[in-house]
Amino acid sequence: MEAYTKITDEVIEKLRKIVGKDNIILNKDKMIDYSHDEFALDWMRHFPEVVVKPATTEEISEIMKLANKERFPVTPRGGGTGIVGGCIPLFGGIVLSLEKMNKVLEIDKENLMVTVEPGVTLMDFYQEVESSGLFFPPHPGDETAYVGGAIATNAGGARAVKYGVMRDFVKGLEVVLATGEILKLGGKVLKNCTGYSLLHLMIGSEGTLGIITRAVIKLIPPLKNTITLIIPYDSLYNAIKTVPEIILTGILPVSVEFIQSDVLLPSEKLLGKNWPCKEGKAFLMIIVDGTTEEELYEFCEKIADICAANKSKDTVVADGKQKQKDVLAIRSNIYEGLKSDTIEVLDITVPLSEIVNHLNRVSEISKDYGIWLPTYGHAADGNLHTHIMKLKKEDEQFKRLGEDKWKEKYPVVRKLLHEDCIKRGGVISGEHCIGIAKKEYLPIALEGIHLEMLKRIKRAFDPNYVLNPGKIF
Ligand SMILES: Cc1cc2nc3c(=O)[nH]c(=O)nc-3n(C[C@H](O)[C@H](O)[C@H](O)COP(=O)(O)OP(=O)(O)OC[C@H]3O[C@@H](n4cnc5c(N)ncnc54)[C@H](O)[C@@H]3O)c2cc1C
Repeated sequence: MEAYTKITDEVIEKLRKIVGKDNIILNKDKMIDYSHDEFALDWMRHFPEVVVKPATTEEISEIMKLANKERFPVTPRGGGTGIVGGCIPLFGGIVLSLEKMNKVLEIDKENLMVTVEPGVTLMDFYQEVESSGLFFPPHPGDETAYVGGAIATNAGGARAVKYGVMRDFVKGLEVVLATGEILKLGGKVLKNCTGYSLLHLMIGSEGTLGIITRAVIKLIPPLKNTITLIIPYDSLYNAIKTVPEIILTGILPVSVEFIQSDVLLPSEKLLGKNWPCKEGKAFLMIIVDGTTEEELYEFCEKIADICAANKSKDTVVADGKQKQKDVLAIRSNIYEGLKSDTIEVLDITVPLSEIVNHLNRVSEISKDYGIWLPTYGHAADGNLHTHIMKLKKEDEQFKRLGEDKWKEKYPVVRKLLHEDCIKRGGVISGEHCIGIAKKEYLPIALEGIHLEMLKRIKRAFDPNYVLNPGKIF
């Protein structure tokens, strides 16, 4: 890694001239929020030397010219909801917060495209898009994430099964390179074969190749009718086995989640709401959309029949808006419910045929090492969220592990889980990215030449390694 220069008073003065004195933070207490993301461990925390909050692309370009000349690192930051340490300033320097660039610039109904600044929260983005009568399908679980952060991590979420991830919707980008040059990619077009796709290289590049300053994103008409089904099973194996059978009938649900009963309890407690099924150890939660109510009910009947043939118990239908909302809230808050005792949440993704085998290995590791590894996730795309906990489960009771114990078990357990994923033809990240947290596994996840090509790309875009250094590699 390059040796970086410290930010001098002279540089601070130049930054003040670029963004204005009110858009700079130097006080350490006020920098706490910019020293971490959602990853829980303290060793992930690093303070920047300064936080800057530019308001325009041109200001970002000036900052990057300065950084590239003086050789200090710049770490772009969105909503800070990442869980791999991507926005943490590992080597100090500048945290460049996109919070001031927070406008939806245009909703173009004729072309079904929205043009947006990177600092718009997903919550505001959905609201503006939906109030214009259109719809944006990808839905990562934390709506305080920014659109720019979601693009930089190629975020996914539960609706990816039918509608895809960020990559499937981003059609144009404006990006400031490490050199300060401004690059414009794509636009309001649905097809584009004009040279190598730098657009797709930028999507999911975790702020290591450029800073996203504007995006053009495809929208679709709103989903007409949706329904949520909860299907209880005694066996997780039977639940997972049902999923390809449903898809083979030609019904592609909006989302298919699998959940085990013990991971629901903390979320139910947190929200004071009850999961609608009292029986069953494992559940599929399936959201289906249809053009008419008749079509929707026909889909539901077919799904319920397939589930019953796979030994499910009675399907519960959450059909009213409030019922659907409650069920989704419980699912969405599983992370929050488990958070206080979570060391790390993984996003291993395996081929559909390997989900059960990987889950069996997760239980084996859990038993062998005496550590609770609750796992839930996206059953129709193989993206599994295993929480490595500071708890063990014995005779249906949870016991807290001492700090020395979980610190000893954690690296061994996470390594075994990632090794199993790779053995099964899976990938170590389906939606959270690599950041700092997973970079030690990249050499076992990718072949030598693959990793080398990534490093050459980084060098070509950022020869002085000033843009978000220490991430991915
Ligand atoms: C409760 C919870 C649920 C979640 N659910 C999901 C989920 O369902 N699916 C999913 O995919 N993820 C999920 N995540 C992870 C996280 O929300 C996503 O990765 C999100 O896209 C990160 O966006 P952010 O704005 O918070 O980015 P940050 O955490 O601020 O940054 C993430 C990375 O993007 C870079 N970056 C940020 N902005 C820019 C920019 N403008 N230009 C260039 N680089 C930039 C940063 O440098 C960093 O490397 C979840 C997280 C939580 C806490």
